[in-house]
Amino acid sequence: MLKGNSVVSISDIGKDEMFELFKLADSYSRSVEQGQKIDSLHGSIMATFFYEPSTRTRLSFESAMHRLGGSVISVSEAKSSSVAKGETLADTVRMAASYSDIIVIRHPMDGAAKLARKFSSKPIINAGDGSGQHPTQTLLDLYTIRKELSGIDGKEITMLGDLRYGRTVHSLLLALSEFDVRINLVSPPLLRVPQHILDQVSSRIRIRVTENLNDVISESDVLYVTRIQKERFTDETEYNSVIGSYIVNSEIASTMKKNSIIMHPLPRVNEISPEVDADPRAAYFRQAANGIPVRMALLSMILGGK
Ligand code: ASP
Repeated sequence: MLKGNSVVSISDIGKDEMFELFKLADSYSRSVEQGQKIDSLHGSIMATFFYEPSTRTRLSFESAMHRLGGSVISVSEAKSSSVAKGETLADTVRMAASYSDIIVIRHPMDGAAKLARKFSSKPIINAGDGSGQHPTQTLLDLYTIRKELSGIDGKEITMLGDLRYGRTVHSLLLALSEFDVRINLVSPPLLRVPQHILDQVSSRIRIRVTENLNDVISESDVLYVTRIQKERFTDETEYNSVIGSYIVNSEIASTMKKNSIIMHPLPRVNEISPEVDADPRAAYFRQAANGIPVRMALLSMILGGK
């Protein structure tokens, strides 16, 4: 159940609740479009801690909270907070829980949000923990697929790029294993999905692993492109060996189905050529915009607003 609870992993949200959230997001999307004022979280305070760069996640969480009538307090850099004085995450979170009603945290360490939950008396939302998970991105990714393709079941979804360090891929894959979908994982051997994640999903969905995008592109309903996560590499030679592995350009897009979509959690570096942006199947900016209604619905369901 979401009410009063943390979202550290995508598995913290059941499938039924996910669909309830999507319906609420649809209704918030209409309200925002019509300029209606919503005040359901008036008096609630959200604290955000972004210890890693963020544009969309941070802005859309903050915008979502403001749109619900709530307020936001935030720390954007570890160096401007007491973390720089040696404070532990546990102490920071204990304190933040007494200043706010919900805490959104992004941190370079895998498992940071899980650790934060242990010390917080208020719900924690994982806004990305190292190369672990990014569950709220997954919610907006699934919402986008459902909206663009009128449903998720029956689809063939191809994930491309850095499947090893890309946290959005990890949580999306876990979530998709609850659906009737076919998955293609396309990456250089060095950037394959970690085995512990494959172990959790491979008995439930059909997965095809390949290095060659041409093997699967023409069958795909969704092409989910990801950035090579430069900041996670410990060895520069490894990074240099995979940089530019796949670049989706108009020629590649022309081999895709007419009713397919191209997604990307953003930011993109060079893995999708700008020439693709004008293709109606390029859904990544619509996907990013969906972050607002989806995060409004999530905050509302956790904090109990209407
Ligand atoms: N914005 C996404 C994340 O925080 C994707 C990325 O950075 O490549 O994981």
